[in-house]
Amino acid sequence: MPELPEVETVVRLINKSIKSKTISKLTIINKKLRWPIDPSLSVYTKNKNILEIYRRGKHIVFKLKNGYILIHLGMTGIIRFFKKTSVKKIHKHDHYEIELKNKSILRYNDVRKFGSIHWAENIDGHFLIKNLGVEPLSKKLNVSYLYKIIKNRSVSIKNLIMNQNIIVGVGNIYACESLHISGIKPQRKSSSISTEELKKLISNIKLVLRKAIDSGGTTLKDFKKLDGTPGYFEQELLIYSKKYCRCGESVKNIKLGGRSSFYCDHCQK
Ligand SMILES: [Zn+2]
Repeated sequence: MPELPEVETVVRLINKSIKSKTISKLTIINKKLRWPIDPSLSVYTKNKNILEIYRRGKHIVFKLKNGYILIHLGMTGIIRFFKKTSVKKIHKHDHYEIELKNKSILRYNDVRKFGSIHWAENIDGHFLIKNLGVEPLSKKLNVSYLYKIIKNRSVSIKNLIMNQNIIVGVGNIYACESLHISGIKPQRKSSSISTEELKKLISNIKLVLRKAIDSGGTTLKDFKKLDGTPGYFEQELLIYSKKYCRCGESVKNIKLGGRSSFYCDHCQK
């Protein structure tokens, strides 16, 4: 499943690839995605200028003058970029395409169909966006924000930082890695984390995500780069799915919230 760093990478690639800032048309090829594609998307976006393309959580947002296009890649969504002259025939799992004024095309393909595309006049009120927590790389993720939340919670710190209503985009790998670097066991009660530890944890969440973005996201077998070439190169992981820690101890693997949680008994308190 594409994680925040992969989505950020896709957004950067789209921004780099598209030269025209005007949508000439949005064509629905197969409306069957997680939610059926609303045909009025084609109407609202016709001949509209793109003011900005950015990421909110794991959504790719196209900001137009009259509203927003929200794209989610689900489990296996891929956006391919074509020049119209080189467009190949429609593939089996193609769902929609956005054609720009200069004839270049962004086409969405999704084998497992868990992705989505929505139109939102008001993005903050949209049902996919309104309950999202703070962006981890923004200043909104800071000690005073998170301390207020953790001080009364008995849930494990790992599950808390992975809660999308609190912070968006801290996936399982990133949670394991940032807790390891911070020297905090994943199963610790949130309320037992000191402000000093929290400070470390927040800066390491940001560090781990930035590193992943710099390397184009971690390897994902179903995910392809915008140009259709498979995979992102693997990021260097310290604890996730490792047998041994850097200190030489065996890595422990427990289930928290149903997810594999790797940690070192020696390095993490
Ligand atoms: Zn260790």
